[in-house]
Amino acid sequence: MVDYLRISVTDRCNLRCIYCLPRGMESFLPHREILSYEEIADIVKILSECGIRKVRLTGGEPLVRREIESLVKLINLIPSISELSMTTNGILLGEKAVILKEAGLDRVNISLNTIKEDRYEKITGYNNFRDVWNSISVALKTFKVVKLNTILFKGINDDEIIDFAKITLKFNLGVRFIEYFSTQDEFLSLQNKFVPNKIVKEVIEKRFGRLLPADDVMGNGPAVNYRIPETKGSIGFINSNEGSFCDRCNRLRLSSVGKLYPCLFSPFNIDLKEMLRGGVERSEIMKVINNLISKKHNYSRPIKREYEFAMNRIGG
Ligand code: SAM
Repeated sequence: MVDYLRISVTDRCNLRCIYCLPRGMESFLPHREILSYEEIADIVKILSECGIRKVRLTGGEPLVRREIESLVKLINLIPSISELSMTTNGILLGEKAVILKEAGLDRVNISLNTIKEDRYEKITGYNNFRDVWNSISVALKTFKVVKLNTILFKGINDDEIIDFAKITLKFNLGVRFIEYFSTQDEFLSLQNKFVPNKIVKEVIEKRFGRLLPADDVMGNGPAVNYRIPETKGSIGFINSNEGSFCDRCNRLRLSSVGKLYPCLFSPFNIDLKEMLRGGVERSEIMKVINNLISKKHNYSRPIKREYEFAMNRIGG
């Protein structure tokens, strides 16, 4: 069942991560191209009538968009949306967490690839490690479910596997290791540096013993969750390079310019912004969306990437 929508609310970001939007690769879209909050909420409403029940706001960095809580409120008013979450780099989350929770945000994922302050700047281009660390503790006090998203690269941060696993001994949060996959030719050299999750799991089990399956962990995605015995936190693995979860994939993606994709790896999309701004009847828009949903599982991830895409525009 296709019931989950990820929305890139902006292509802009306040970090320059080496694997996503490094310095020199910025080319941001003009504001008029980006969907307004009213347009996003309108699209979510239409999609809710086509079966979408859960929504995640991502980007770019969702918290750099002005008063993002207004969008959270608008989506929260749509009765059949049962869950609203956000993926953020966490820099601005400390100051916004309570406002977002009050506006109706249910849970957050915070991206953090290192817990070494000097290394954080090397990976992200900015010295905001302390802000993110503070945001994690604010998030833990504010939201019931908090997860950390971590990508490992050989020779860059793969010596931190145990340190990340140890976070789950102390805190009730989920650390998720996401295998890197290159989305643009500029990043091909990084593809050779990705660390397979099979190895990450082996390293953790060598230190802490056999991980226990953790089926109670809340989630909408392809993560396979475990925990170190007798800990509250969990450890999730997203094996992006296996592509074995296409059959059970339940998500659509709405890009910052209003294109709806059935799959991250499919160049095929429908231009909902053009339809909305062009005054196309809602019933017609629903027909096109339902057609895309019915064909979703005809697409599966190709062994070799067929087109280049920027994660900040389509939404990571
Ligand atoms: N700015 C927000 C953040 O940092 O969480 C949201 C957008 S970011 C694109 C969303 C997630 O996608 C982050 O956890 C990021 O590390 C991940 N990501 C970006 N490029 C990726 C790639 N090529 N492979 C796997 N994950 C990627």
